[in-house]
Formats: sequence, C-alpha cells, structure tokens
Amino acid sequence: MDVAGKVVVVTGGASGIGRALVYRFADEGAKGIVVADLDQEGATDVATDLDNAIAVGCDVGDPAHADVLISAAEQSFGPVDLFCANAGVAVGVDLASPADWDLALNVNVRAHIAAAQRLIPGWLERKNGYFLATASAAGIASQIGSAPYAVTKHAAVAFAEWLSITYGAKGVGVSCLCPMGVNTPLLNDGLGGEDGLGFRVVTAAAPVLEPDDVADAVIDGLADETFLILPHPEVLEFLQRKASDYDR
Ligand code: NAD
Repeated sequence: MDVAGKVVVVTGGASGIGRALVYRFADEGAKGIVVADLDQEGATDVATDLDNAIAVGCDVGDPAHADVLISAAEQSFGPVDLFCANAGVAVGVDLASPADWDLALNVNVRAHIAAAQRLIPGWLERKNGYFLATASAAGIASQIGSAPYAVTKHAAVAFAEWLSITYGAKGVGVSCLCPMGVNTPLLNDGLGGEDGLGFRVVTAAAPVLEPDDVADAVIDGLADETFLILPHPEVLEFLQRKASDYDR
C-alpha cells in the first residue's frame, strides 16, 4: 500500500504513535485523514495542523465508534482505504480487576473487531482496503506486568492474523504493528513510570524508540505488505531470547 491519495482513519491519533502516523501519512500525500481519539481536544490540535484532516472525538471501546468514524471519513473524503486500529490502553497490574479486563478487552480487541465488521463487506466489494492493527511485542511474548495487556495484545495479533488469512487473497491487506518501548505517555505513565517493573523490563530489553521511528517502520511495512511490523531488530532478539527462556 502506498498512502499517497488514500483516505485514512487513525484511532488514538491525538498522541504518541497514532499522532506520528497521522503526520507521516500527511507527508506521504494521503488524500484525507480522520484523527480519532477519546481526547477530542488533542485530536483537534493535530487535525488543525493539517490541510486535509478532521478530528472526531470517540471512545473506541463503544462498537458504534466504527460507523461514526467511517461515515465521517466517507462524507469528508470518500471511502476508507486504510484503517489504523491504534488506540490502546495499558491497564492493571498482575491479574488485575474485572473493570481493567473489560476496558482492555473493549479498547485493545473489540474495537478492532467492530472496525473490521464495518469495513470488510465494502472492502471485499471494492477489492481494496487495508487494516493496520497496533498490537505490541507483548502480543507475541507476554511481558511481566499487566495480564489484561498481554492477553488482549495476543488477541489483537490473532485477530489480525485471522483477517489476513481469511481476506488476504480477496484484496484486503492486513498488517500488525508490534512495537516495544516507544517514548509515549503509555510507556512512561501506563507502565508505572520509571520505577514501574513493566517500564524497567521493556526499556532494559531494547533501546527506547521515538514515535517517528515507528512511523518509518509502518511506511516501509505497508509498502512491502509485511504482516508483522516490528520496528526494531532488537525487539525480535528480545522475543527470541524469551522463547529460549521458556525452553529451559
Ligand atoms: P499514547 O498514550 O501516546 O496514545 C494512545 C492514544 O489512544 C491516546 O491519545 C488516548 O487518548 C487514545 N485512547 C485511549 N483509549 C481510547 C479510547 N477508548 N478511545 C479512543 N482513543 C483512546 O500511547 P501509544 O504508545 O502511542 O499507544 C498507541 C498504541 O501502541 C497502543 O495500542 C499501545 O498499546 C501500542 N503500543 C505502545 C507501545 C509503547 O511502548 N508506547 C509498545 C507497544 C504497543
């Protein structure tokens, strides 16, 4: 997928990785971008920086968000070519509370399912469409810390993989972004800050990346139609080391 001339939706577009993706897609010549976020003010700040973007405040934990975002994109720019299910939450510690599980399941997994349910029929008809799911390295090998985060990110990888094997031959592209240790509020606050165990484990494993590094990897991954986009080779080494730990 070449983003030039495409209509794109980015959830979690007000901050961190999502915001870097929005700016990069604009640089690459996207026709129109919907910046979607729970933080409507932040989304508006990003969209007003750009000529061809609109902001939509939404909670992706509500399945109705998918129709709202896709209809907004269609009205302003035309049919959606690329949907980035990027908004995510790192909640809970260890086994966590039922409320943390609900939040993580709704935002990190069910949001992806709701978006795909709304998009896939049209994409199959047009034989065109691309779904980029932001999961995490924690979706490939569980990291210590929050069980809901590890489990829901594994589910996001599995759902993206299922989409890819089911619709890949029918004109629908799918990639799954699995970063680790990116300098954003989610890493710095969500994992308990610099004293948090999750933060220390992640940042000891590989160098911390900037959101722009992740945007670079996404542009390359979309161009090559790579399924699993891992922005840093050391993340892969970390995952392999973990796998060999399990062998012992
Ligand atoms: P971030 O905190 O900078 O951005 C997350 C954005 O998602 C925020 O703007 C937030 O308002 C929005 N959001 C949260 N809940 C929402 C909801 N219910 N509805 C709509 N928007 C919502 O964090 P980030 O690091 O850029 O995270 C983006 C994605 O990358 C997440 O899915 C995260 O799990 C994933 N990720 C991040 C890292 C990392 O190290 N930062 C590593 C692996 C995966």
